[in-house]
Amino acid sequence: MSSEFTCGICGEIHDDYPALTFAYPNSYYWLTEEEKRIYNIQIDSDFCTIEYPERVDRFIRVLLKQKIQKSRLYLDYGLWVSLSEENYENYADNFNNTNHETLYFGWLSNALPDYQFEKSVPMDVKTKKGNQRPEIYPHLDFDHPFVHDFYHGITKEEAEKRIHKILSNTPK
Ligand SMILES: [Zn+2]
Repeated sequence: MSSEFTCGICGEIHDDYPALTFAYPNSYYWLTEEEKRIYNIQIDSDFCTIEYPERVDRFIRVLLKQKIQKSRLYLDYGLWVSLSEENYENYADNFNNTNHETLYFGWLSNALPDYQFEKSVPMDVKTKKGNQRPEIYPHLDFDHPFVHDFYHGITKEEAEKRIHKILSNTPK
């Protein structure tokens, strides 16, 4: 096997990169313990609603595929986006509909490590046939290094760095 397939960090061959996933949207991580107790919060593996005193925020779990340059591999991110009430209800209503293909607007609701997010990134959220998680695509005209990397790809070295950073933070 040629050395281009060998991980520059651990020396092993990663045929399938592990997905880098967030268990919750950032809004949940930002709540105090007190707020987590008093607000009505619903979270499972695909849906999250947080009822604040003055509004309700709605999030769904999605997939982002980060292209890797000169490779057929992608780095998969398990992320959350916020949806409007109407789109959230539509997604929930069609969750078990295997032929539901549509497009929503969403805001990225996790901060990927290695980037600074001053503003949330607007996303196209494409639902897929066959009950797969929706895939997200940042709006091309949003000027941000993350959007640039998404469309131009990151290097294999950068992908390996990100994977090992997450793996080393994951409790075994
Ligand atoms: Zn490795």
